[in-house]
Amino acid sequence: MAAKIISGNKIAKQLRKDLKAEVEQLKEEHGVTPGLTVVLVGEDPASKIYVRNKHRACERVGMVSNVVRLPEDSSHEKVMETVQELNDNPDVHGILVQLPTPDQIDDEEIINTIDPAKDVDGFHPVNMGKLLAGQPELVPCTPTGVMYMLDTLDIDLSGKEAVIVGRSNIVGKPQALLLMYRHCTITICHSRTQDLAGHLSRADIIVAATGVPKMITAEMVKPGAVVMDVGINRLDDGTLVGDVDFEAVKEVASAITPVPGGVGPMTIAMLLQNTVRAARKSVSG
Ligand code: NDP
Repeated sequence: MAAKIISGNKIAKQLRKDLKAEVEQLKEEHGVTPGLTVVLVGEDPASKIYVRNKHRACERVGMVSNVVRLPEDSSHEKVMETVQELNDNPDVHGILVQLPTPDQIDDEEIINTIDPAKDVDGFHPVNMGKLLAGQPELVPCTPTGVMYMLDTLDIDLSGKEAVIVGRSNIVGKPQALLLMYRHCTITICHSRTQDLAGHLSRADIIVAATGVPKMITAEMVKPGAVVMDVGINRLDDGTLVGDVDFEAVKEVASAITPVPGGVGPMTIAMLLQNTVRAARKSVSG
């Protein structure tokens, strides 16, 4: 039986509706409009598209959205200064520095400079530490989006075997923690993993986040597994594909996210949610 296709577009649309109501409530009750500022350094075409999509999404829910555009040759100090100014601006509740930045900029130091209370990407070590300690506040958007999508399926995660392919700070690691907190038994695979197929063959839930186009094939997937594809890869002919061979795997899985239109829109929706959360915290202390 072909898998249920989990539409991130549809789920994100409903979530935006809920967030819009929350934004209205914050305005009425506290006179505060949640504000997100994105810092974009340089002219990377993919980054420009992401920033434009984030800006539009903010406007749709009634949030304030600003983009600080800095030239490609901006110094590291200039970006640091910009972040400091945003830290000090009470109208800015969320700060996001669009990655990757040009080579002269030390991303790690920039991330560490963002006020953790405004770190809506959830990448600051304070926020990562809180997640690890089981006290999550601002959690990375992509893995939170995956959890939100899983929750729309009528399945009990407790005791399930979850295999996460990829161990990055922004997806794989926090994803594993979030699944573990929901009582999954987790396995994290990466480029040095031996027998990836063996691990995947036991998985009730697979989260693929490698950046390797279509590397997860139907033969690797246990019949009935739920497959969440985080990967976004552009092929030479311009088409976008995930890390999963969607057409073949959808014949084996019980549910699967498409690319595009799966995890991507949820990441943006979660960014809005984090910004609303940060704004609410700023008024409630
Ligand atoms: P990274 O490059 O930071 O991490 C990739 C991970 O995949 C690494 O842990 C790497 O292992 C592992 N990996 C690479 N090749 C293999 C392989 N052949 N077998 C097993 N594991 C492998 O990527 P990100 O986590 O930032 O992103 C992953 C993908 O998700 C990308 O396609 C990215 O574009 C996409 N993405 C999508 C988002 C969305 O909103 N949908 C948001 C963020 C990312 P090792 O650690 O050993 O190198």
